[in-house]
Amino acid sequence: MILDLEPDEELQDNPNQSDLIEQGAEMLYGLIHSRYILTNRGIAQMLEKYQQGDFGYCPRVYCENQPMLPAGLSGLPGEAMSPRYHHTDGTCFGTGFPHMLFMVHPEYRPKRPANQFVPMLYGFEIHLMLQAASNFKSPLKTIR
Ligand SMILES: [Zn+2]
Repeated sequence: MILDLEPDEELQDNPNQSDLIEQGAEMLYGLIHSRYILTNRGIAQMLEKYQQGDFGYCPRVYCENQPMLPAGLSGLPGEAMSPRYHHTDGTCFGTGFPHMLFMVHPEYRPKRPANQFVPMLYGFEIHLMLQAASNFKSPLKTIR
């Protein structure tokens, strides 16, 4: 119905109607896409893109250019965008896609980073208590 759109008299009378149909088609495509990438064929295609780095690489230094996977932050259309693809509705990927991929193919799960960031100042490791206190962004109380 959406693809067979031909300008008929009803649509010419109301041009907003075709915009609504287009928006509905976009949403429908996104939902079909999110369902498709959970199938075996979809996972295989997404895995290929993941390995080619089509979804980008993690910018964190200790992740050492780990390829990324897209994920929606909400399952509801129009509610949350995919963090990397700000123009793409998160529902196009669904909230569970990365988990499904790594459940089906555990061999592709990223390894834990060998190195971890240790905050230091003048060569001294910063005490955990001070790190926690700075997270609250409140002035430090004097330590007795
Ligand atoms: Zn990372």
